[in-house]
Amino acid sequence: MAVPPPGARPRGRVLIVVILGVAVPAMLLAGLGIYLTLRITRAVQDETARYNSYIALQIGQAFENELLERVRQGTVQAENLARVNAPPVGIVAALGAGNPEFEAPHFVPVEMLNGYTVLTVEGQPLLYAQGGKTRQDEYFAGLLLRDSNGQAMGAGGWWVDPRRFLLQHLEEVVRERLPSNERLYGGYESTRRLSVTLLGPLGEELHRVRQPGDLGTARTEMLKGPFEGYAVRVAPAEGAPAALASRFVWFEITFIGLMGMAIVLATTFGLRYAVRQLELAHLKSSFVSNITHELKTPIAMIRLAVETLEMRRFSSPEEGEGFLRSIERETLRLQQLVDNILDFARLEAGQGLVRNQPVDLAALVRDTVDGFRPRLEHQGFRLEVDVPEELPPVRGDAIALSHCVLNLLDNALKYSRAQREVRVSAGARADAVTVTVADRGIGIAPEDQRRIFEKFARVETGLVHNVKGAGLGLTLVDQIVRAHGGRVEVESTLGGGSAFTLVLPRADGAEAPGAHAHRKTGHVTGGDPT
Ligand code: ADP
Repeated sequence: MAVPPPGARPRGRVLIVVILGVAVPAMLLAGLGIYLTLRITRAVQDETARYNSYIALQIGQAFENELLERVRQGTVQAENLARVNAPPVGIVAALGAGNPEFEAPHFVPVEMLNGYTVLTVEGQPLLYAQGGKTRQDEYFAGLLLRDSNGQAMGAGGWWVDPRRFLLQHLEEVVRERLPSNERLYGGYESTRRLSVTLLGPLGEELHRVRQPGDLGTARTEMLKGPFEGYAVRVAPAEGAPAALASRFVWFEITFIGLMGMAIVLATTFGLRYAVRQLELAHLKSSFVSNITHELKTPIAMIRLAVETLEMRRFSSPEEGEGFLRSIERETLRLQQLVDNILDFARLEAGQGLVRNQPVDLAALVRDTVDGFRPRLEHQGFRLEVDVPEELPPVRGDAIALSHCVLNLLDNALKYSRAQREVRVSAGARADAVTVTVADRGIGIAPEDQRRIFEKFARVETGLVHNVKGAGLGLTLVDQIVRAHGGRVEVESTLGGGSAFTLVLPRADGAEAPGAHAHRKTGHVTGGDPT
């Protein structure tokens, strides 16, 4: 019965299931999560930036209010004097006494007010103008004073240094004016969570209330009127939710991405495991049909030969001997198969297989080859043996190692066509002893060279299709050699033949890997190569 190469189709199907059923939905979900997170964060950031810009404008207005209020308080007395038509000297004296904060009181007669600008602060006019040569950095800020007839007689006010005023009032404006403004609580942040920075005409930082946390949403607004050139930058303060949000979003995106990957990986491995189990079940069922054939064929041949001999249906003594040899050959074949099955069953049950005794490998190989020689010769094989008289010592289980060589010889015989040549050689390497069985047979494709060591695995194409086998021989060879601390090497080209080399650690010199364990237990359990 032809068995499809394990994995070819089921693996393809699993890949499609993983891609369509898991990878695509997981990526879509992760993509949606990331997209929504970015959209929401973007919206929050836009809103925060708008809010920051609004607050910065409010701070500018609060400075204007503050200035107007100070000027108004300081001019109360001067206004009273103006109303009784007092002379400018008296008015200046009253201004000097009226405001302790401003040091340079000034009265501007009405006819000189042309170059002065009116800043309307909450409906109230505040007159201002930049100082001349002597007061370049200062601004006049004052109110219009009216005489007893209600006629404007001039403006009374002070020379104000805007930088000093802003620095002096920044904390207070942020602390008192902003929280007292109900409208400012509508945003995402309360003013307690804001960082406010005063910037000078060159963009330099003059003073700061709280450390900014997220400059991405910071907004800067220029101040007006007497404060022109200065600016206020508002950003979420360190630790404010809006500042944390932008940092959190990257954490969230990374997390979603990692979770998506974890889902895909876990499912891939889970499904691969399931497929492997299915393949194994499939291989086991084909193993049963193969083994049945393997057992039945020699039995049928033996029975035929026995019957022929019993009934003396042969014409010459030579022909009779031929039947006896055939019985011997088929019995050996049966024995090898039964040995393999028993070894395999023991290994599968986790029982020890390898005894740890000195082995004369050269003699072992020669004996095994001699035992197998009739089968090869009967099938027209040319056998070449190149085994030295002596090989470095090896420790292990002679019977198990002999099974290995026998299995390799059996395969060389089974998988050869027109070129019937088998070469058995042995030799020593620096730390190992090698036994090679080479043939000029059908060869093994590179992609199958690993797989053939898996239990029940067979190539099942070309000639192998017609050769029965249980797919256990190489599994056993590999497990036995591994149990000796060695390995099996394959060199093969499709159509050009194969060479299998058993590489066994030398028992002289450096201690072989695992040899210690052998000595202690006397047995080594073969590991599963898969
Ligand atoms: P079996 O021979 O019973 O199928 P094995 O485990 O001995 O099982 O071999 C596994 C597979 O490896 C074989 O079915 C065959 O496809 C391939 N193989 C093994 N030895 C050779 C060889 N000498 N030349 C070509 N193919 C081989």
